[in-house]
Amino acid sequence: MSDARNPLADFIEPAAPAARRSRQASVSWGSRVVTVGGDAPVRVQSMTNTDTVDVIETAVQVKELAVAGSEMVRITVNTPEAAQAVPHIREQLDRMGIDVPLIGDFHYNGHRLLSEFPACAEALSKYRINPGNVGRGDKHDKQFAQMVEVAARHGKPVRIGVNWGSLDQELLTQMMDENAKRDEPFEPQQIMYRAIIKSALESARRAEEIGLAREQIILSCKMSGVQDLVSVYQALAARCDYPLHLGLTEAGMGTKGTVASTAALSLLLQQGIGDTIRVSLTPQPGEARTQEVVVALEILQALGLRSFNPSVTACPGCGRTTSTTFQELAKQIDDYLRMQMPVWRARYPGVEKMKVAVMGCIVNGPGESKHADIGISLPGTGEAPAAPVFIDGEKALTLRGERIAQEFQTLVEDYIEKRFGAATTAH
Ligand code: SF4
Repeated sequence: MSDARNPLADFIEPAAPAARRSRQASVSWGSRVVTVGGDAPVRVQSMTNTDTVDVIETAVQVKELAVAGSEMVRITVNTPEAAQAVPHIREQLDRMGIDVPLIGDFHYNGHRLLSEFPACAEALSKYRINPGNVGRGDKHDKQFAQMVEVAARHGKPVRIGVNWGSLDQELLTQMMDENAKRDEPFEPQQIMYRAIIKSALESARRAEEIGLAREQIILSCKMSGVQDLVSVYQALAARCDYPLHLGLTEAGMGTKGTVASTAALSLLLQQGIGDTIRVSLTPQPGEARTQEVVVALEILQALGLRSFNPSVTACPGCGRTTSTTFQELAKQIDDYLRMQMPVWRARYPGVEKMKVAVMGCIVNGPGESKHADIGISLPGTGEAPAAPVFIDGEKALTLRGERIAQEFQTLVEDYIEKRFGAATTAH
């Protein structure tokens, strides 16, 4: 809603995400440079669930995730065979014209894999290092340093990714012991939060000492509880200006995973915290891996942070809509817009910001349709069988009969051509 339409605009500030404050990093492959942090838009990441050794299957899934809108894709690099496969996955993607940067996810043996397979180290655009999984005792610092040295040598950025499920146990034990000696000890949860943040910040400091530029470091502290995640990231954001990667780890399946991720990420993004996001959904049987990308894009678009697809406003329906016509039309228009977007994005600049309304009856239909760029108010039960169409806030015409859906779709196409096609020819 624009300020001009907001009757409260003269005495309230419209809600908007807070300003961000992180420094900028970049993740690149070839001529593709994905900036992260600073003034860059919040980036979308995802992760494959294929066996990295299977070059074709992994490359195909990376492509699917990239086409769905993932701007960086992480792959597991867990064995020598996987490390050997990485440059071939990269080549396969390049052959398919997919220049999305690949991120290598390393645990336990990353120091060896990155050192022994330089082609893997080079083919990756960023390394994810989990400081809780780089070795115990005196091996920890040595193996961490080994990975960071490879990153510095190859000019690759690193995400220091702490996860509470694999938190550095030696650090946690040491902090718990220190806490126990305090006159007024903190709650164990407080110490865990502090250990997570300390692990990230001390690892970042060490990485800089070893030779990684400050601009090559991104941090994350993933938790699986919404309030835990918010608490930790608020504290982390207040203590550093590294770009932050957000994600609710092990969010779960279906509605639960989607809602929990949306709640956690939205609370933080609204505070200006977060430079990249991943939605860690467990795919339901038969569900595409790309669903996690779809949800991430929807979160950013719903918050008004980015626009990816035209949005369709549809009412939920109620007792006034005894037919399913408006549900079918809303779905048909939504599917159609999504399907066309890969082509339209280039042909019709700005079309991703378009708003379409498909409403079920006269109660809110005309009003909501006027707020959209193009909207239709279908007749509810007992209303005259007529569907007024509103274009740019004005009633343009009324559709009637059996072919309302097809005719409305044609009107949407004409609107896009007139409004956004002109932008193409004008340049
Ligand atoms: S717009 Fe009409 S059909 Fe849709 S929810 Fe509101 S009252 Fe019900």
